[in-house]
Amino acid sequence: MSLAKLKKGNNVFVKKFDENKKLYHDLVEKGQHPKVLWVGCSDSRVVPEFTVNADAGDLFVIRNIANIIPPAEADENCTSSVLEYAVLHLNIEHIIICGHTGCGGINALIDGTPKDSKIHDWLKHACPTQEITKKPDSDSLELVTIKENILFQAKNILTFEYIEKKVNQNEINIHKWLYDMHSGKISFFDEIDNNWHQFF
Ligand SMILES: [Zn+2]
Repeated sequence: MSLAKLKKGNNVFVKKFDENKKLYHDLVEKGQHPKVLWVGCSDSRVVPEFTVNADAGDLFVIRNIANIIPPAEADENCTSSVLEYAVLHLNIEHIIICGHTGCGGINALIDGTPKDSKIHDWLKHACPTQEITKKPDSDSLELVTIKENILFQAKNILTFEYIEKKVNQNEINIHKWLYDMHSGKISFFDEIDNNWHQFF
């Protein structure tokens, strides 16, 4: 992908913008009112809006390596400021934590990274792999870790008291999703049988 492609791409987008003028102009005039906060990975192959066919204005998004939410006590500002704005100002109703197969961040966690790198520091907030290696499972270590990390981040998000309160009052629902890069399909973690299922 060259920069020239991106510049031409804006021209293509402007045509689509004109075709959907009402949507875009309403978003300007009436402001944004997304119902969903999407926590995803920065991976260029997993574009949230594409995977769920969402429009502009549908998703409030934060993406980082391995779809991580550092716990409140980590005092990390980037992710926590997005949470604060989404939950306390936009009043979103759903938080989707979406990991994906083949996640480079999770593979870095498994393989290890140089201790002096920022990625190493960041991955300290991912699911501890020592716990996972003890768990017998038919999935590969990579896939087990990806899944467990999604569940781990769903626990991390509850360390923010204002989120835990809204979850307890059924004002926010937290969803644990896994995007399969081979099929484009999304699985969700079902609390009833403690297992992952595809939507269709
Ligand atoms: Zn990833």
